[in-house]
Amino acid sequence: MSQQTDFDFIVIGSGFGGSVAALRLSEKGYRVAVMEMGRRWTPKTLPKTNWSLSRWLWYPSLGLRGFFRMRLFRHLLVLHGCAVGGGSITYASTLLRPKNQIWRSGSWAGLAPWEQEMNRHYATASRMLGVTENKILGPADELLKQAAQAIGRGSTFYRTQVGVFQEPNGEAGGKTYPDPYFGGEGPDRTTCTGCGGCMMGCRHGAKNTLDLNYLYLAEKRGAQIFPETKVIDVKPLGNKAEGSEGYLVTTESTTSFFRKNRKTFSCRGVVFAASALGTMELLFKLKDKGSLPHISPTLGSYVRTNCESLIGVRTAGEVDYSRGVAIGSGIYIDDHTHIEATRYPKGSDAMSLMTTLLTIGRPDPSRILVLLKNLFLSFLKHPVKTFRVLKPAGWAHQSVIMLCMQALEGHINMRYKRSWYWPFGKSMQSSGQKIPTFIPEANAFAQKLSALSGGTAMSMVSEILFNIPSTAHILGGCVMARSATAGVVDHQHRVFGYKNMYVCDGSVVSANLGVNPSLSITALSERAMGFMPPVTENNWIDAATERAEVKKLLTAETLLATGVKTH
Ligand SMILES: Cc1cc2nc3c(=O)[nH]c(=O)nc-3n(C[C@H](O)[C@H](O)[C@H](O)COP(=O)(O)OP(=O)(O)OC[C@H]3O[C@@H](n4cnc5c(N)ncnc54)[C@H](O)[C@@H]3O)c2cc1C
Ligand code: SF4
Repeated sequence: MSQQTDFDFIVIGSGFGGSVAALRLSEKGYRVAVMEMGRRWTPKTLPKTNWSLSRWLWYPSLGLRGFFRMRLFRHLLVLHGCAVGGGSITYASTLLRPKNQIWRSGSWAGLAPWEQEMNRHYATASRMLGVTENKILGPADELLKQAAQAIGRGSTFYRTQVGVFQEPNGEAGGKTYPDPYFGGEGPDRTTCTGCGGCMMGCRHGAKNTLDLNYLYLAEKRGAQIFPETKVIDVKPLGNKAEGSEGYLVTTESTTSFFRKNRKTFSCRGVVFAASALGTMELLFKLKDKGSLPHISPTLGSYVRTNCESLIGVRTAGEVDYSRGVAIGSGIYIDDHTHIEATRYPKGSDAMSLMTTLLTIGRPDPSRILVLLKNLFLSFLKHPVKTFRVLKPAGWAHQSVIMLCMQALEGHINMRYKRSWYWPFGKSMQSSGQKIPTFIPEANAFAQKLSALSGGTAMSMVSEILFNIPSTAHILGGCVMARSATAGVVDHQHRVFGYKNMYVCDGSVVSANLGVNPSLSITALSERAMGFMPPVTENNWIDAATERAEVKKLLTAETLLATGVKTH
């Protein structure tokens, strides 16, 4: 086994793709480190509600060290996770398989016999993430079902597939059992209480977050996880510009204010798994500053969002719509438009600050005037009701949020450049055709739902004020292709232009999935790691002289890097 570098593989990011890589590489005998810029969470440290902003939001420079972040670009508002376990800490635990047609579109079409191959990888991913049909339907799910029946789409209603440990028949949860998933090798688990809190992390230990499966098992096999550690540089080690001698990975602390605590680690291979946004941003920086100049010029192209829109209904009655799992059910209102009933747990009302009355109209500034008119008329006609639907207190348990996704083709691009408002440095910016900020069919459905519940239809403020849709499902940017002229990686996730460098996260998804993506990211990463030979078959065994040579190189290189010390 190779011993001259600090690690065989460094995995950047511990979300769905990174966790699969960490476990499968450790199983194959590699010495693995996982660098994760977010914190490690336990049921005890998770916040009770999202009013505890410092433990919910991740903006460490402002002292907010939670696990959820929002980033605004010209074309979209991206919601994403940031923690040991990546997006799995904040995600709603819905794990759906997309329709087979997705393998026939986008840049991955024809690169592999996907439909034939992916079945077994989806099966492995589902087993590892403990996917089961949701057994707990709450009032929000019942309302979705009624509304679907009212528009003649009742037959499309389904219970979501979720990565949650539930009692077999949806009985009251809260009971602890020895590891139910990995033959006793995993941790004890407690069954779901249907508190609706999945997007705030699970304080009951029922959600199958990655720290309870893939990462848990990877650590048991020797993988080392470095929380609160952000990768800021990756460059080839030695004289081989294509990385065949390995890489130097430089990190810094994300949570210490003054000491950045920079360190450099050496490794033979790197897996970028920092999410679509994180991997694109890191690769842009590294290409721009000359650390990885051969990354394909297509980096940042074909960024997809599942054509998503968040709408909802706020009621003022006694029904507690927060009961159930975060996304308990879904329907198809037409062949390509999919709606899921989503909720936050009782007391987590902070998201109310981002919602307002549903406003139909052209997606331009005139829509703001329509919103103001609607607000004025609503206060005039029903002052008490309007006050109730806009006040933050009670929002979570009185609201049904509808996550609407469309499997239609469409993409934007990300570019790394100076902006007119900040010419001093480059940043990642969106470009291309705007994504529609409202889906008329979904808006009509929201109004149907509000009529049935006696509530008021709502939409996201950002969609109306800035004509910007929000998405929790940003994908692509390092898409698969036959060569570097059309994509960043090949169908085995190998980065064009470099050796032993891989991308395993949402950035490699090369078509619009139309469903929540985490199961697909997991299955794709399982497939990619399946191509890795065990360490004993890898030609990384070094003669003592070669080892000494690399050590010399490493010292020379790290001395050159100002302020950087070797690990
Ligand atoms: C509120 C919410 C609800 C969601 N619900 C669902 C759902 O129900 N079902 C579903 O399928 N999807 C859901 N998603 C989307 C899902 O979370 C993402 O699609 C998924 O996590 C992406 O996986 P990934 O492996 O690409 O990256 P991630 O899981 O995002 O992991 C990437 C990790 O890399 C880390 N990182 C980034 N840059 C660096 C760096 N330079 N150095 C070190 N670490 C770095 C990040 O901190 C992060 O932890 C939801 C998302 C949100 C925000
Ligand atoms: S509904 Fe509550 S108990 Fe069940 S998985 Fe979600 S957070 Fe955990």
